[in-house]
Amino acid sequence: MGIGSAIVLNGEIFGGKHSWAGEIGHICVDPAGPKCGCGANVCLEQYAGQDALFRRAGMPIASTLDDLIDSFNAGVPTAVSAIDNAATTLGRAIADTLNIIDVDHVILGGNFVRLLPCFQQLLISEIKYGRMSGKWTETEVIADKNNDKAALLGACFDNSPIL
Ligand SMILES: [Zn+2]
Repeated sequence: MGIGSAIVLNGEIFGGKHSWAGEIGHICVDPAGPKCGCGANVCLEQYAGQDALFRRAGMPIASTLDDLIDSFNAGVPTAVSAIDNAATTLGRAIADTLNIIDVDHVILGGNFVRLLPCFQQLLISEIKYGRMSGKWTETEVIADKNNDKAALLGACFDNSPIL
């Protein structure tokens, strides 16, 4: 399961020239990282995507997010490390994105809504560290209240051309 985002500027979704804007999952977070499905070796998805989280936690791919969160809360080292790495790399990718588009609000959806209580402090710290204006501005990071419907709603509203 990958990681995507939507950039909303002045109340409008910014899709970019080819409607691919917001591919945050393929931002470089570790040049020495594992190979990604996109062909690069550097991507956020290899740290914070669902399959990567389970793999890094030493859990079967068929595990559930509840299994991972339970292991994290129980202090299982591999689960703690996997979620901490996800927070750090996601924060790094968000900071880089904010440095480019200069907005103050980040809304997390999907699995990150449920992971936010596990990694909020580390995530915010990484964003503040990596954001150029982090010393002078506050970045609000909240969970999407439509968590379980975000992908469905996005697909319904998608007006990009069918390839
Ligand atoms: Zn990639």
